[in-house]
Amino acid sequence: MDTLWQHEAFIGGAWRGAGDLRRFPVLDPATGETIAEVADCGEAEAEAAIAEAAIAYESWRGTTALERSRVLRRWHDLMMERQEELARLLTSEQGKPLAEARGEVAYAASFLSWFAEEARRAYGQVVPAHRADAEVVVLKEPVGVVAAVTPWNFPLAMITRKVGPALAAGCTIVVKPAEDTPLSALALARLGEAAGVPAGVVSIVTTRDAPSVVGALMRSPTVRKLSFTGSTATGKLLMRQSAETVKRLSLELGGNAPLIVFADADLDVAVRGTLASKFRNTGQTCVCANRILVEDAIYDRYAEALAEAVRRLKVAPGTVEGAAQGPLINRAGFAKVERHVADARAKGGRILAGGQPDAQGGLFFQPTVIADATPEMALADEETFGPVAALFRFQTEDEAIRLANATETGLSAYFFTRDLARAWRVARRLEAGMVGINEGVISTEVAPFGGVKQSGLGREGAAQGLEEYLETKYVLFGGL
Ligand code: ADP
Repeated sequence: MDTLWQHEAFIGGAWRGAGDLRRFPVLDPATGETIAEVADCGEAEAEAAIAEAAIAYESWRGTTALERSRVLRRWHDLMMERQEELARLLTSEQGKPLAEARGEVAYAASFLSWFAEEARRAYGQVVPAHRADAEVVVLKEPVGVVAAVTPWNFPLAMITRKVGPALAAGCTIVVKPAEDTPLSALALARLGEAAGVPAGVVSIVTTRDAPSVVGALMRSPTVRKLSFTGSTATGKLLMRQSAETVKRLSLELGGNAPLIVFADADLDVAVRGTLASKFRNTGQTCVCANRILVEDAIYDRYAEALAEAVRRLKVAPGTVEGAAQGPLINRAGFAKVERHVADARAKGGRILAGGQPDAQGGLFFQPTVIADATPEMALADEETFGPVAALFRFQTEDEAIRLANATETGLSAYFFTRDLARAWRVARRLEAGMVGINEGVISTEVAPFGGVKQSGLGREGAAQGLEEYLETKYVLFGGL
């Protein structure tokens, strides 16, 4: 197969430019340089993709689960064969260290293999009937044409996590990738094409004008479901827009994850877990710890150990050997981190590590640890989405739970303790869709990923992830 660098949109199985050959630049966040010019689609291309998806749906839904499973498995295998090339492409438009990019390729591919397996387990039911002369049968059917709107922080995985179950269920899907990272989406489509995904089953509509393309998807009565990953604000907007045509919704929105360190925790495990949870992807994940709550008795020791570990993180372009912290994705992301640090400093925060833009300039910010954080600081209720660890102090388990739950969102939560009874108690009381105990990285294709409260609706991955793309049809056989 030829190169994975594609610049045209992928609609109905064809590589197409946008009307009047409009294009938009894709930047390398490590250098600020333009690395590609990609088709800038509008409503017309979105509508074409929907029409192609509707045609393809008629035949794709009629394939056997085994046929769909084989296509997904081949797609997974091709991703892994091209892992290094995909990782480099990902790093060049997204900025994460190459080691993390390789990890994302494998993680993204795992959703294709997982749903290749789940495709064959979309069982219905035969229910004992309410009458002697009847049979009650429950069928599982694909939802139909799906729209996916995805973010830039995991440009491959956030797509396969939707495309995998959609295809497994027999749905067809139109993907609108984030404007910062369209190249990964197009590379994925190229591999899907080679794996035998039929024309129109997956389309990728690249654009820098999200409202127009997504608006067309949301208005269309043909599109029966939206799966969105991104900010809570945009999620609410799309939820409102989807009301008009009553679409099924899966929403993975923002988090404001608490990470609690109890005094009985293993200090090394807690520091390692915090580093992994907070500084992965330079702090740009929706499950990154955003508020670190530390029990008074261990506060100073933990703070010093964390600061020391953070000072050792190498800040460098993702392609540099040993890079641990890449650039932030764009100016807006960088400005938010600066604002949070300045606000925390002004409100009495003590900087134990970092605290400044990095000396190499551009979008690099020093990984930062701030002690004496308080609920009045902006970083207490806004997701920083950057390399800033803010340490709050608490005295009792009840206080920790109260602080942890004092947020409108509830995606992930973490805590560190060696007390078994406390582990159960706290896990039960945390208002979150996912809880990590003595562990800072919890995402895996085998477990249901998703949040409660304003963090969203539905789950991705796991058996639950397939259900999101299935409708239930009840059939009564009467007069038997
Ligand atoms: P983030 O803060 O992670 O960039 P966004 O919610 O802004 O989160 O972006 C997630 C996805 O939603 C991206 O694909 C983006 O293009 C899209 N998006 C952003 N704003 C809108 C909007 N007003 N209408 C439709 N899609 C949008």
